[in-house]
Amino acid sequence: MNHNEILFERAKQIIPAGVNSPVRAFGSVGGTPRFIKKANGAFVWDENNTRYIDYVGSWGTGIVGHAHPEVVEAVREAALNGLSFGAPTEAEIIIAEEIAKIVPSVKRLRLVSSGTEATMTAIRLARGYTQRNKIIKFEGCYHGHSDSLLVKAGSGLLTFGNPSSAGVPSDITQHTIVLPYNDINALEQAFDEYPEQIAGVILEPIAGNMNLVRASNEFVQTLRQITEQHGTVLIYDEVMTGFRVALGGAQSLHGIIPDMTTMGKVIGGGMPVAAVGGKKEIMDCISPLGGVYQAGTLSGNPVAVAAGLKTLEIIQRPNFYENLSARTSQLVQGLSQAAQQAGLAFCADSVGGMFGLYFMNTLPKTYADMSASDATRFKAFFHAMLDKGVAFAPSGFEAGFVSAAHTFELIDETIELAKQAFSIIK
Ligand code: PMP
Repeated sequence: MNHNEILFERAKQIIPAGVNSPVRAFGSVGGTPRFIKKANGAFVWDENNTRYIDYVGSWGTGIVGHAHPEVVEAVREAALNGLSFGAPTEAEIIIAEEIAKIVPSVKRLRLVSSGTEATMTAIRLARGYTQRNKIIKFEGCYHGHSDSLLVKAGSGLLTFGNPSSAGVPSDITQHTIVLPYNDINALEQAFDEYPEQIAGVILEPIAGNMNLVRASNEFVQTLRQITEQHGTVLIYDEVMTGFRVALGGAQSLHGIIPDMTTMGKVIGGGMPVAAVGGKKEIMDCISPLGGVYQAGTLSGNPVAVAAGLKTLEIIQRPNFYENLSARTSQLVQGLSQAAQQAGLAFCADSVGGMFGLYFMNTLPKTYADMSASDATRFKAFFHAMLDKGVAFAPSGFEAGFVSAAHTFELIDETIELAKQAFSIIK
């Protein structure tokens, strides 16, 4: 057994499935997860000392590259002054001001420690503000693991959702309507049926948890209009897309001003920082100003905020997103060409520093489309690439991420290795 295998066996004796978050267990691709001992720039190293070009980037947090020296220095300096105070700090104000400057729809915000907390609080605020119970989410979108959002579609178009996890009472998910992504008719039908009852609609404006799936322009414009018309809170969940698809997130690309936005990943630069923000009148419903309760021992943690602030500074340097987008486009174009030459059913897409690879001929618009991607081919490709020292996400339903540390040379190297992988798997 190699070191990864030994550690996996040991981990399973104490941590369920050996992992602290399910997808890390390699459940859908099989094999042994790599236990990572260090990361730098575009690379991670496992416990066998094997180096991988990393396209997971801690699920999108690592936009400036792993262990960026300036971020590490900011963390070190902050840590020397104490790890946690549980009291307000000036750094929290600075990062909140910075986020609000970059994302103009955010007039007030609260810092939390995970995307799950951010979306859970956004839903509670939408309900508290509107005094309504029902929410709409879209099939294939993931918003963290709070009860009302762990819902899968019912069998009819407008049935309320069923829990997608054991331990979630259907009494809770009965307030969640699940609709197909990009389906304007279904959206209109839901608002016709429950005109004054829908507190909020939560959306991944460019989905990244069913692989990358773009929302159509028409869909998001309709969504904005219909929510406005019905006094429903529109929540853009930009935990993944924020500061990733563009500096101002998907909302800046769509030209949409949502009522609320949830953020995470990049704003912590690899440390646990997330945020929920939006219109003043909605955010002012939060305790102690209003009756919607929210709190957190480690919210606004000074060391995590230092990492986030330095990351926000780096991503605002000239041409950061032009460079990131160019590299990501080069990757998806190169992979597409290589797959075409190998005669595989394959296509790929990217927005800013986020990309999707699909083992099928056309880009997906819905979760149902995405389910047609060839899972067996993905699995074979994933392992062939891992064997060659390239780490993609261990699931065909996840987006991939490029960082500023992925040079054009590394992208070309990845494409060359993919050519070999495609010829093995076809
Ligand atoms: N929303 C979106 C869009 C996400 O991608 C994620 C996590 N991948 C979450 C929410 C939950 O964030 P966290 O894992 O930090 O709780």
